[in-house]
Amino acid sequence: ENTKSWHQHYPPEIKPSMHYDEKPLHSLLQKSTERFPKKKALHFMGKELAYEELYTQAAKMANYLQMLGMEKGDRIAIMLPNCPQSVICYYGALMAGGIVVQTNPLYKERELQYQLNDSGATFIVCLDVLLPRVTNVKDNTDLKHTIVACLKDYLPFPKNIIYPYIQKRQYNMVVKAEQGEDMHTWEYIMETARATYEPVTIDPKEDLALLQYTGGTTGFPKGVMLTHYNLVSNVEMCDAWVYKTKPGEEIVLGVLPFFHVYGMTAVMNNSILIGAKMILLPKFDPTEVLKTIHKQKPTLFPGAPTIYVGLLNHPKLTNYDLSSIEACISGSAPLPTEVQEQFEEVTGGKLVEGYGLTESSPVTHANFVWHQRRNGSIGVPWPDTDSKIFNMETMEEAAIGEVGEIAVKGPQIMKGYWNNPEETDQVLKDGWLFTGDLGYQTEDGYFYIVDRKKDMIIAGGYNIYPREVEEVLYEHEAVQEAVVAGIPDPYRGETVKAYVVLKQGFNLTEEDLNTHCRKHLAAYKVPKKYDFRDELPKTAVGKILRRQLVEDDTKIEEAT
Ligand code: AMP
Repeated sequence: ENTKSWHQHYPPEIKPSMHYDEKPLHSLLQKSTERFPKKKALHFMGKELAYEELYTQAAKMANYLQMLGMEKGDRIAIMLPNCPQSVICYYGALMAGGIVVQTNPLYKERELQYQLNDSGATFIVCLDVLLPRVTNVKDNTDLKHTIVACLKDYLPFPKNIIYPYIQKRQYNMVVKAEQGEDMHTWEYIMETARATYEPVTIDPKEDLALLQYTGGTTGFPKGVMLTHYNLVSNVEMCDAWVYKTKPGEEIVLGVLPFFHVYGMTAVMNNSILIGAKMILLPKFDPTEVLKTIHKQKPTLFPGAPTIYVGLLNHPKLTNYDLSSIEACISGSAPLPTEVQEQFEEVTGGKLVEGYGLTESSPVTHANFVWHQRRNGSIGVPWPDTDSKIFNMETMEEAAIGEVGEIAVKGPQIMKGYWNNPEETDQVLKDGWLFTGDLGYQTEDGYFYIVDRKKDMIIAGGYNIYPREVEEVLYEHEAVQEAVVAGIPDPYRGETVKAYVVLKQGFNLTEEDLNTHCRKHLAAYKVPKKYDFRDELPKTAVGKILRRQLVEDDTKIEEAT
């Protein structure tokens, strides 16, 4: 009776409704360790860790945290790039009953202090090079214990051989932190802790596993409360969606950062769930990624559009063998059709677009991986996930094809914002999460994103969706990246401005691009200004920081 229009497209392998284990998130690691003790779990710059080693080290971390006094519900900030420690302490902290607060390693002191205070974290794990930042803010927070990890803790070779993307400077700065009452080195923990810890009773539907601060490109980020059940259900859906994966056999490329919800679910938790080997890359360097694919032969590669674009535009792309890649889900931002098709051609694998947000653990919609898909669509809702479009003015359900705000409901939807009932009430209504994204639904249940509510440009009374203009710009053969934003205009309220990065070897004038846009867009949508750049500012998952561009522009104008 609950059949939705999109269920007609589901292949027999995917059930519209599934059963999710009501178990703590860290039980995924325990289960895979029991099934595949000797299989490799992590690969980091040539060094590999088997599941039983990963589990033992996570248990040691849990043991150590409990010795330091960690109790159920205590918050622990993890400020690390993708490296063995980021996986080990994530699961270790959960085993000890802690709530993980993922912290972007790029955070400056102000942002770090805000997040530590807002979450009330009493523990932090950080990289040696980040320690000065932590030390500088510590006295203004509730932090009691700092754990310091070094990338060299897991390097398979002598310290003086350096991979290109770890700078020498970092090695020289390696902390000589004295093991003390409130300062603990990773090395010491792994040498002294026992691999047994006091099990903590978890109520998966109630207890939080994570406080995940939203991307928040403006204002202060809010802590999204995600329960163990939210995260377990979303990763189980993810596995069900791809369904051809072979437990214990897959190799997952981990270039999306785990401190963002998307990398955390689609790479880290998913990899652990299916007993895969996860390749850890601490940052996105196109050459390094291509080399890694060539050598390590990953089969699954969750990413974001700018990551795929970066690889496709690599000057030596054809030197690398990318044929191991079987399936990729792209999320976080719209995936241009051109990029999708090119990437599939180069790899021979599938690249499909999905959609989600921090508040939903994150995935709610995706295209099917192995059969019919619709380019430009975010696909259909995942199992047990409902989705509707609401008219923004009347708040009634919108008609088929009518643009409105996308709302979602399902086991992956957050409990609310941490210590922020007002903001929670703004977005959670009767179990529906209002996403702030505008879109529409087709008769047969496919969803399309038009834009973000707050990115819509209103110029001379017309609504303009930046995404539509960006699609047109991307169609030009010389354009590598493009983003469109509304900038203040004395006559039209706002006007359209395009920021463009050209492909190498191409020369293009404003006039050329304008002619191209005029051919494909109504006059009011055609950018009035073009700004050619060498690169565009991006978030950790490669989302272009549209608002930052506009804010910087406004500042420049004010100054002149
Ligand atoms: P975050 O909470 O950082 O994961 O950001 C979530 C936001 O990313 C969503 O609300 C959307 O605006 C955007 N987003 C995610 N996936 C897509 C997609 N496939 N197409 C367009 N926007 C997307």
